[in-house]
Amino acid sequence: MSDRIPFRVIEIDPAASHKSKSQSTGGIHTRSFSGFYRNLRIVFAGALFVLFFGTAWLQWNGRQAVLWDLADSKFHIFGATFWPQDFILLSALLIICAFGLFAITVFAGRVWCGYSCPQSTWTWLFMWCEKVTEGDRNQRIKLAAAPWGVEKIARRSLKHTLWLAIGLVTGLTFVGYFTPIRPLAAELFSFELGGVALFWILFFTAATYLNAGWLREAVCMHMCPYARFQSVMFDKDTLAVAYDPSRGEARGPRKKGSDPRNQGLGDCIDCTLCVQVCPTGIDIRDGLQMACIGCAACIDACDGVMDKMGYARGLIGYKSEHSLQGGKTHWLRPRLLGYAAALTVMIGALVLALQLRPMVSMDVIKDRGLFRENALGQIENIYLLKIINKTQEPQHYRLRLVDAEGFELHGRTEFTLAAGEMSELPVSVAMLAERPSSSSQSLTFEIQDSDQPGVRSTANSRFVAPMNR
Ligand code: SF4
Ligand code: SF4
Repeated sequence: MSDRIPFRVIEIDPAASHKSKSQSTGGIHTRSFSGFYRNLRIVFAGALFVLFFGTAWLQWNGRQAVLWDLADSKFHIFGATFWPQDFILLSALLIICAFGLFAITVFAGRVWCGYSCPQSTWTWLFMWCEKVTEGDRNQRIKLAAAPWGVEKIARRSLKHTLWLAIGLVTGLTFVGYFTPIRPLAAELFSFELGGVALFWILFFTAATYLNAGWLREAVCMHMCPYARFQSVMFDKDTLAVAYDPSRGEARGPRKKGSDPRNQGLGDCIDCTLCVQVCPTGIDIRDGLQMACIGCAACIDACDGVMDKMGYARGLIGYKSEHSLQGGKTHWLRPRLLGYAAALTVMIGALVLALQLRPMVSMDVIKDRGLFRENALGQIENIYLLKIINKTQEPQHYRLRLVDAEGFELHGRTEFTLAAGEMSELPVSVAMLAERPSSSSQSLTFEIQDSDQPGVRSTANSRFVAPMNR
């Protein structure tokens, strides 16, 4: 597969192309910058951190607000509990999220990668730690080239300690969504934690440290499947971070205040700042590439240069192919409208399914013994009913057989289950007729909430009887 998205072909003079100076040191050392899109990214990153780190500690009705309880196979989210039988709803939610991502990609390219993807967000956090401990780009390049000494060891140690600390908190939080985080953290920091939980915390600590500290853009370029297939979703009206060559070329230095057009120049002063701030180390002036994660750092850097030069902003910006060709971007296009319509239908169906979700569920398991004769001489079958109260309150239930003339249900038919309780109830069904009309007949069990008759669930099974009695 090509590593260039077929978005725009730009004729570049190779002699005028600058490589990022940082690339000569074997790593990408990005330069600090400021601007609107950086601030926007900080807002998104802050929201993601608050959501990820904060939600795990939040309590709701005396329980962790969001918890995928692996031990009991339950998923708690803000007072609602989902059981394995409900996971079809979770699958539907994931499909809606994937569809939403496709729609956003058609509209604005890789904004997910640039602003919300955890890989990018944690990488920016690790890069900030790098800046705090090792200085800005030029200092880091100098430090990388310097021989090992006290200062280099101290700065590098501090950086890796910070990275590992963030990795540990990330790993703990992630595992804390699957096993209650408060006791987990208490056991971890008192060195009493062992076994599976400790393994997974260390695993995710290492994964965070490696992905955000060392692999960084390599994850986006070589490991992320989204980067591979997102190019097929682009159309000529998709917004993507792009350089406008018709305005920027020919690039070259010039005196501030001079008219570039008189010198045969465009607006690009060839300062390479757009390359120096790029976390993936590419030159956006070469055209849109698969390695571009759409972070807009180059837009901020170039807008700053344009301001200093007294030129209009937007030499690099969010542009569609149509706009780059001098045409108009079509916002309302059939593909986007189709995605919007499909998303609306899917979200509506999910909301309806959530509202209609039965708050009591029942499964019937027939005993392996086919039948037996009871003390009254009746043929009897044994069943085990698994009943779940999916509400957050204790509920009283009634059990009965539906349309089962000639059969009698024996066992507890009225009982109470605590909030979220699953109970296994053994019952038997006796056949009242002496001779069965068939060796196997269908039976329907129904469980009904005594206070809310609309809350009910049914489950089918079979009654087996000997024909030659
Ligand atoms: S930052 Fe702008 S002016 Fe400087 S090289 Fe990049 S495109 Fe040209
Ligand atoms: S070229 Fe680099 S800096 Fe510009 S949006 Fe793409 S990844 Fe970000």
